[in-house]
Amino acid sequence: MSDTSEKQEAVRPRPFPDDASADYWRAANEGRLAIQRCRQCRHWNHAPSMNCPACGSVDLAFEDVSGEAKLFSWTEIHHSPGPAFADKLPLLVGIVELVEQPHLLLVANLPGSRAEDLRLGMPLQVEFERISEDCALPQFRAVGGQS
Ligand SMILES: [Zn+2]
Repeated sequence: MSDTSEKQEAVRPRPFPDDASADYWRAANEGRLAIQRCRQCRHWNHAPSMNCPACGSVDLAFEDVSGEAKLFSWTEIHHSPGPAFADKLPLLVGIVELVEQPHLLLVANLPGSRAEDLRLGMPLQVEFERISEDCALPQFRAVGGQS
């Protein structure tokens, strides 16, 4: 039984996969981090696009990556972007650099870390937070973290 009281769980906003990113989200839902890669020049690309930003080829596919990353930058959010985040504040959002290629960047939550523990370049590992039956979000946790 649910009611309309404030205790009712707020719905997390969900990503909306498009033609370029559908395979990325499908892999995430299966617990895999798959990144778009050019079959011509082997350049990794994120966010997914319809053309390789390095050579312009449309011959693109998704390949699984290691899930290892380094912290490139981060921000600490103190004002909830929506009711679903009210109990998650302060929310740590990172820009992480995947080890597969310099400046292969991905924006993700940083669960299990406190802002004062974060260091540029610290090693991170992907994990997945399931937010619905058919959607899981890649996010990154400090390797050997104190959580
Ligand atoms: Zn290319």
